[in-house]
Amino acid sequence: MTLDVSGALKQPGVPFALDVVQAIAPQEVFADVVTFDPARLLGTYTAVEHGNVLLRGTLTTTARGHCANCLEPASAEIREDFEELFVLGGDPEDNEIFVYTGQEVDLERLALTTAVLGLPIRMLCREGCNRVPAYETGGVTVTHCQEELPGQRPFAALKQLLAEKTGEGTD
Ligand SMILES: [Zn+2]
Repeated sequence: MTLDVSGALKQPGVPFALDVVQAIAPQEVFADVVTFDPARLLGTYTAVEHGNVLLRGTLTTTARGHCANCLEPASAEIREDFEELFVLGGDPEDNEIFVYTGQEVDLERLALTTAVLGLPIRMLCREGCNRVPAYETGGVTVTHCQEELPGQRPFAALKQLLAEKTGEGTD
C-alpha cells in the first residue's frame, strides 16, 4: 500500500503516527517458499531535510513455511524494527536506498525487506524439533515416529536407496 505523507511534508520535523497493514508476497527463502500474513507496521513517519521522509517503527507478522528438519508446516512470529529514509526523487534503480516521488510512499519493499530480515535462520515446527522428513523405502512410508526409534537412521536408508538405484543402472 502507499502512505500519503502530504501532511508530514507540510510540517517537517513533526512525527506522524504510522499504523498500516501491508501485504507481503511469498518469498523463496532458504530453499523454501515462505508466505507472510499481512504485516502491521506501527511507528512514525517524519519529513526531514530535502523532502525526504523517515519511517521508523516495528513490523509484526507471521511467516509460514516448513520446518528445516522434518519439513512439516512451520511458522514464526516476526517482530522486527525498521528505520528507513525515503529519498524524494531518488534513483529507483538504486537498491541501496528507498525512494519515493510525489507525496506517496510505497511501503511494499520496506515491509518485505524488514520481514525477511526478521526471519529465523531455521524455521522449526516446534522448539527443538530433531525429526527427519518422512520418506519411502520398499513401498513403505517411514514416518517421524518410526524414525525416532533407535537404530533406524535416515541416512542409512537413504544410502540403501541410492545403492539400489545405482544397481539398477537406470538413466
Ligand atoms: Zn519439525
